[in-house]
Formats: sequence, structure tokens, C-alpha cells
Amino acid sequence: MIVNKNKVVSISYELRINAKDGELVEVVENDKPMNYLHGVGSMLESFEFQLEGLKKGDVFDFMILAADAYGEESDEAIVDLPKTVFQVDGEIDEEMLVEGNVIPMQDKDGNHYDGIVLSITDEMVQLDFNHPLAGDDLYFTGKVLDVREATKTELEHGHVHGEHDHHHN
Ligand SMILES: [Zn+2]
Repeated sequence: MIVNKNKVVSISYELRINAKDGELVEVVENDKPMNYLHGVGSMLESFEFQLEGLKKGDVFDFMILAADAYGEESDEAIVDLPKTVFQVDGEIDEEMLVEGNVIPMQDKDGNHYDGIVLSITDEMVQLDFNHPLAGDDLYFTGKVLDVREATKTELEHGHVHGEHDHHHN
């Protein structure tokens, strides 16, 4: 069985940035693989394109350019917000406001974004909402551990169900 639309794919991999021997940013081990439903947009399209047609036991080794991954870093994603935005019950949470901290934020439409605190002044906080991998070419090496048909329920939900977990919303 090969990797194509509506298959559940299990993979292990290493992700390095910018080169095959670049900085290691993520490791997914054989005994704790990543499982995803192929072809429904849960992974980068450029990533799924590279895995398409592989089968169990195949190894992979490819680079995705930043433009096809998380894009280039943008100045527009760096924003200054008044400190009052971070008030909880009238108090500013000073512990949260530390340079380098990642702060989960929500816009008026309920979309979630993680912002990294770049700097803090008396009145303002500067946050960087660029994806941590923006501007980076992604180098993946890994292995296809399993390919199976998705179940009917998985297709309805658009995601993989584990052996034990069960959720439902
Ligand atoms: Zn589900």
C-alpha cells in the first residue's frame, strides 16, 4: 500500500534547518511515530507531496524551501501592544511578560497565535508572531513506518484516531 489520499501514514523523522547537517529542531522517534491522515491538509502540502507514493519501509530525505514551508519572516508579524492587553482581572501578569516567553494570544475572531516577547517597556510589549520556522528551509530525513487505510470515522473527522484515545467534540 502506498501513501496517497485518505491513508493513515506513520513516520519517524529528523527535521534540520537549512541543510542536511543543519541545526536539529525536531526528532520523531520510531517508537513514538507521527501519524497523520494524508491528503486532507493537516501537513504542509509540500511535505505531503514528497511522501506521496512511498510505502512502508521506504526512507526519505528532502528539503523544502522556506517559501513552500512557513514563508519568510515578515516585519508585519512584529507588533507592539499596550501592556494593558495582558491584564487579567485588572492586574498585569508580570511573570508572563519576560523576553523570550511564548504567549498564546487570540484575535477577535477567535484565531490562536503564539507570540514571542521581544522587548518590554513601561507601557508597551513587542511581540513576534512569525512562525518559529519562518525564513528557514526545512531538511527532513526519515522513514515510513506504516501505511494503512483510514477508517470511516477517521475520514469523517479528518484526523487519525489512536488505539486508545478517544475524544469527542
Ligand atoms: Zn475524531
